[in-house]
Amino acid sequence: MRGVRGDLSFEGLKKLVEEVVRVNSKMDKIELHALINDAHCFVVKPINRVEFEVKDRKMDGLVNLSKNTCSCCEFQTNLLPCSHAIAAISKCKHEAVEFCADYYKTIILVEGYAGSIPPIGHPSEWDIPLHMKQIVVLPPAWRC
Ligand SMILES: [Zn+2]
Repeated sequence: MRGVRGDLSFEGLKKLVEEVVRVNSKMDKIELHALINDAHCFVVKPINRVEFEVKDRKMDGLVNLSKNTCSCCEFQTNLLPCSHAIAAISKCKHEAVEFCADYYKTIILVEGYAGSIPPIGHPSEWDIPLHMKQIVVLPPAWRC
């Protein structure tokens, strides 16, 4: 992997991120295509404008497109449409990407690194208020 140059423009950074994540994107596309192929076989029954019952011959899904949820829990857990949601989204003539969390979008990743990131320096040089120095931070109880 190439180093990130300090003079990298926004477009240059976007291109670099796309190059870096290309391998993962291919895997995601393969999985997404599998979900879409599955979704074509499903029977979608609208309940109202945003809720759908999706029959998949296994563990059917109850999809809510205004809440981005499905009874299989994949949609709300992964913040990406599950195969039930893809079937419902397709029925509504929308694109699945509209229902993906911004965290997965390249543009959001690029924006996160677009600004300057100043070095934090050595911990001995940090100016920490006394009341903050006294705070002891322990790991969560389940990690002890
Ligand atoms: Zn589902």
